[in-house]
Amino acid sequence: MKPPPDNRFRNAWGGDARAAAVGEQLRVAGWVHRRRDHGGLIFIDLRDRAGLLQLVFRPEAPEAHAAAHRLRSEDVLCATGTLARREQGTVNPKLPTGEVELHVSEFELLSDAETPPFQVDEDDDVDEALRLRHRYLDLRRTRMRSGLELRHEVVRTMREHLDAEGFLEIETPILTRSTPEGARDYLVPSRTQHGSWYALPQSPQLFKQLLMVAGYERYYQLARCFRDEDQRADRQAEFTQLDIELSFVEEDDVIELCDRLLQAVLAAGGIEVSLPLERVSYDDALLRYGSDRPDRRPGMEIADLGEVFTESEFKVFAGALAAGGVVRGLRIPGGGELPRKRFDELTEEAQALGAKGLVWAVVEDGGWRSPIAKFLSDEEIAGASAVLGAKPGDALLVVADAAPTAARVLGELRLKVAAAAGPADDAPEHDLFWVVDFPMFERSEDDSRWNPLHHPFTAPTGDLDGDPGSWRSRAYDIVLDGFEIGGGSIRINRPELQQQVFEALGIGPDEARERFGFLLEALRYGAPPHGGIAFGLDRIVALLAGRDSIREVIAFPKTGSGADPMTGAPAPVDERQLRDLGVRPAPGAPKGA
Ligand code: ASP
Repeated sequence: MKPPPDNRFRNAWGGDARAAAVGEQLRVAGWVHRRRDHGGLIFIDLRDRAGLLQLVFRPEAPEAHAAAHRLRSEDVLCATGTLARREQGTVNPKLPTGEVELHVSEFELLSDAETPPFQVDEDDDVDEALRLRHRYLDLRRTRMRSGLELRHEVVRTMREHLDAEGFLEIETPILTRSTPEGARDYLVPSRTQHGSWYALPQSPQLFKQLLMVAGYERYYQLARCFRDEDQRADRQAEFTQLDIELSFVEEDDVIELCDRLLQAVLAAGGIEVSLPLERVSYDDALLRYGSDRPDRRPGMEIADLGEVFTESEFKVFAGALAAGGVVRGLRIPGGGELPRKRFDELTEEAQALGAKGLVWAVVEDGGWRSPIAKFLSDEEIAGASAVLGAKPGDALLVVADAAPTAARVLGELRLKVAAAAGPADDAPEHDLFWVVDFPMFERSEDDSRWNPLHHPFTAPTGDLDGDPGSWRSRAYDIVLDGFEIGGGSIRINRPELQQQVFEALGIGPDEARERFGFLLEALRYGAPPHGGIAFGLDRIVALLAGRDSIREVIAFPKTGSGADPMTGAPAPVDERQLRDLGVRPAPGAPKGA
């Protein structure tokens, strides 16, 4: 880091002091990280942005020494002194400044601190609600700081890389109209037009497409996006995407650009990847891992056993196949060791996930130990073992059900079993690959209509005169260690095709005009072929930092229920504000300040 300005408070970063500067007069400033009183000597670890420096208060400087007695953790001070080499035996090899210390001649207490509600000088576990309530203290801790420093590094890499590839960083509005990305909108009432509302963007999707129509060709933005979802999993109501769009491109162009970008970004997190990144089809991912964003590292691929059991006398298998379903299984290497109770638990889990049941078997020399072994022929047992590559001592899990159920259930059980077993010795540390060839639509939960797998602006392929259920989309997702860290597509650039997709989604011409008229209109004025992608910045940084939660790499996140315990948001507002906005308070709502 460049030295700080030379002023009354300091002329150097304490954390940057090195042996080369021994003998120099330094003035440093920061927080009392830790204090140790050793009889005559008082040691203070002073913390600043650059790190820690040991200050020594000696009786030879009696005024400073006396005042140092009263210093407490997290007090703010500046101190002047001579940089000295630490005595032998007191060198701290763990600290970059561990060879030196500052012998303080003068110091000034700039601000004192109450006892913090948790220890700042250690990274041990503290209740998250308390950390969020005093986030400014939590952010002082090394762990949080290193996460935010990495975040900065990742963002800088992204900007530099895209700049070098000719991209322009362009901002798009926060107060806008709804952009469907599959979540609920955050709405902001208009004061000047009562009854009208802005929506906060779920993504800049339509604006970035309009920038392509406008001829900007290569756009990116670190975009804040807002999605009002039930906060299951590790989500935040507002999060940051690296949003990208390019013109005159096809899938390969976007994917190759992102390969290069991701290689640079992961390198910033100390992970090397070789290019090109692998591409896996959606169908294949679902068949082999039961998920369209699989973690492939544990292995344990799912395999189809339909052919083995086509003629089976075992009713469960025969029935599932006759009904158009599937029989699929996976192998747990060495799973024969698992207690019987574990298989019962897995069966219960499978049922909770919607399967009718779960077949389990332990492979032994000459056959299977399984409650259903007696219903199967020797050929079936040998055939299924062969397809799954099973050896004596392994266990097998088999599900017979509708294909989506079998995929989901086996996909989940696979992860549960893998998590319980811990990482295999030969498992790669990281796994980064593309998923491509998505279906365009999936059935809505109540089966009444189609929903887009991505969003309605994604270009479809296939027989567009035929059943929309058979259309594929020109979309691609990128998966890192079992998390979808980005996704995008080639877009529709002709208004007729956009209309056709809206129609397939049950959005009639009037509704389309009302909600997306501006897009349809723009597409009529010369829209180049274009496509893009958005990456989830928070998740990428969390994975690179090895953190379980994205909250660990966001300076001021919200809790799982969308609250900020520090500011108290969301909070009631006063009635006058509501009146100005033409909004009536909800009955029984608490009154604002
Ligand atoms: N707008 C999409 C999203 O936010 C990404 C994209 O298609 O570029 O998921």
